[in-house]
Amino acid sequence: LSVRCEPFVHTEAKTVDGQRLEVGANIIGQEDAELAFRSGAEGIGLFRTEMMFMERAQAPSSAEQVAAYTAVIREAEGRPVVIRTIDVGADKPVDYFNLAEEQNPFLGYRAVRLYPEFLDLFKAQVFAVLKAAVHGPVGLMIPMISCVAEVKWVREVIQEVEEELKQSGEHYGSIQLGIMLEVPSVCLIIDQLAQYVDFFSIGSNDLAQYFLAADRGNDKVGNLYHYLHPSFLRFLRNTVKEAHRYKKWVGLCGEMAADTDTLPLLVGLGLDEISLPAPLIPAVKEKINHLNSTLCRDLLDQSVNCEDMDQVSLLLKQSHNDLA
Ligand code: PEP
Ligand code: MG
Repeated sequence: LSVRCEPFVHTEAKTVDGQRLEVGANIIGQEDAELAFRSGAEGIGLFRTEMMFMERAQAPSSAEQVAAYTAVIREAEGRPVVIRTIDVGADKPVDYFNLAEEQNPFLGYRAVRLYPEFLDLFKAQVFAVLKAAVHGPVGLMIPMISCVAEVKWVREVIQEVEEELKQSGEHYGSIQLGIMLEVPSVCLIIDQLAQYVDFFSIGSNDLAQYFLAADRGNDKVGNLYHYLHPSFLRFLRNTVKEAHRYKKWVGLCGEMAADTDTLPLLVGLGLDEISLPAPLIPAVKEKINHLNSTLCRDLLDQSVNCEDMDQVSLLLKQSHNDLA
């Protein structure tokens, strides 16, 4: 932690003209959460729970999960914690799922698409999140949603688990339901989805790869995969606008949020929150506190009219000192 950023660790992230942009952390467990809150995180925007399911012989029990989620929620001391349900398949294989090899794993059987087959496992996770939610505010977030039917199905399962908890007289907390926006199809049906969810979080890593048809892990197409593509910026601007039209909170939790050079565009988008790795939080909060949101919106307007991402990068560099 640099001395320069220290004063910003525990201040709210807010632009000079008063626009709030919550800064949350991406974590995989309690240790990360502890570091995140020491670094000034205003919440946990993405708890990647699949890490708990990987590199072991079988899934963690409900009790083990309750303990893990509770530890993070306790660490948060009343700040919101967004717990993402398991996102396995594609680049995150898990042996005991015994998934068949696929020709196009990123377009295949992954994340929420697995839940109906692995229903007990999904229900056990929902059960654990509901139990842990008595300790503080919790968002349950579903990855890779691509249509309304998936959200309706998830809601039915949550209801079933709540019913089971009620029947057995167990204590559980209330949760907010959110979905990740990482498949482009859902960004154009925000009006419909808004009837079924409480919040949205943009997963810019997957959203950019699906939007630009360029594998996020393939260097050969690395020049095509970039979140500064003007078309992608237009798409994000439209998505945030739609979420706000329907009075929904919308965050962004992909790598894009961790790029401090891009921060003026994220402020310009008017996001409610960004979530990033803990060590970057103080610097990001400091930078937000020096930006002017009107100038950031102007910069975004110019960026979406650029012809390519190099022009956007140049614009960001040139405007570097003029955004306060
Ligand atoms: C994303 O896709 O942007 C995201 C945050 O999820 P992950 O990187 O875990 O796929
Ligand atoms: Mg993703």
